[in-house]
Amino acid sequence: MPKYKLEYIWLDGYTPVPNLRGKTRLASEAPKSVDDCPMWGFDGSSTKQADGGSSDCFLKPVGLYPDAFRGDDAFIVLCEVIMPDGETPHPSNMRATIVDDPDAWFGFEQEYFLFQKNGRPLGWPEVGYPAPQGEYYTGVGFRNVGKVAREIVEKHLDLCLAAGINHEGINAEVAKGQWEFQIFAKGSAKCADDIWVARYILLRLCEQYEIDVEWHCKPFLGDWNGSGMHCNFSTKHLREVGGKEYFLKLMDAFEKNKDEHIAAYGPDNHLRLTGLHETQSIDKFNWGVADRGASIRVPHSFVKNDYKGYLEDRRPNSQGDPYQIASRVLKTIAEVPTT
Ligand code: ADP
Ligand code: MN
Ligand code: MN
Ligand code: MN
Repeated sequence: MPKYKLEYIWLDGYTPVPNLRGKTRLASEAPKSVDDCPMWGFDGSSTKQADGGSSDCFLKPVGLYPDAFRGDDAFIVLCEVIMPDGETPHPSNMRATIVDDPDAWFGFEQEYFLFQKNGRPLGWPEVGYPAPQGEYYTGVGFRNVGKVAREIVEKHLDLCLAAGINHEGINAEVAKGQWEFQIFAKGSAKCADDIWVARYILLRLCEQYEIDVEWHCKPFLGDWNGSGMHCNFSTKHLREVGGKEYFLKLMDAFEKNKDEHIAAYGPDNHLRLTGLHETQSIDKFNWGVADRGASIRVPHSFVKNDYKGYLEDRRPNSQGDPYQIASRVLKTIAEVPTT
């Protein structure tokens, strides 16, 4: 009797932000690696990925994660969507277009809100607003974080660790009901895969609490922080050679490609990148040492270490697709000669 549960998950064809989808396949043997997971199919006409007349799409497994929701005999299988010919990537398959560099290291800081059933953030009153921002960031106590939020973020952390995802940390964020997790990985594709699986795990966990995850970058206008997904990155050259001259050329390339970066950094970012709430305006590009109002923040350690280390692009937002964000960063870096 097959007893191993494989949850095949993939990104659907909705725009501008795809949804995560998943269905279960039973297997009689436990997969040792992703290569042991067969291709599978689904009805693309129900996910905006095909017409009803020719609805088959294929799922190509690309990542295998232990599934601690279901225990020892279960796995989450991250998949790419493939056309009916079994080879061609589906147009919605952004992973297939990623610029991968195993020597590029990425650390994404995923921010999000937890929303109650009434469409308001967790811990907010039924009407009106909670106390203004100030004490919520990294806060403690019922007044600051509400009742079940801590339980959710702790469980999410444990489920992700059990899945082998390299969390670097979690924290309560500036707005009430807003949280962040950080994921680091060596390799752009690996880090982006892990972000999507961590998003999936959070959504699935929150079902049990009748809570929704609001990924939008600015769920509330007014004096409330939006949600970003800061992209910390370093290449081998930036870590080992660096130098001020190279850094300045790199920043010139980022400035030149400003609009291309914004296009890849998530929808509705004009609502969030206003120049307030620790952001630079969407129509400006600048960098600054330790400056949280800059497009790119340069850590003190980077300058002290002769312009070697990592940089933080603060513009990507919480709904951004990490495949597209990491690819854009690497494309711009590739334009700058290293000699
Ligand atoms: P802050 O909130 O101060 O901006 P965080 O601690 O939330 O910073 O996130 C910083 C991120 O930078 C972490 O996720 C970490 O993994 C990442 N990071 C650290 N060193 C490197 C590096 N060399 N290359 C890429 N990312 C890095
Ligand atoms: Mn952070
Ligand atoms: Mn943050
Ligand atoms: Mn940051």
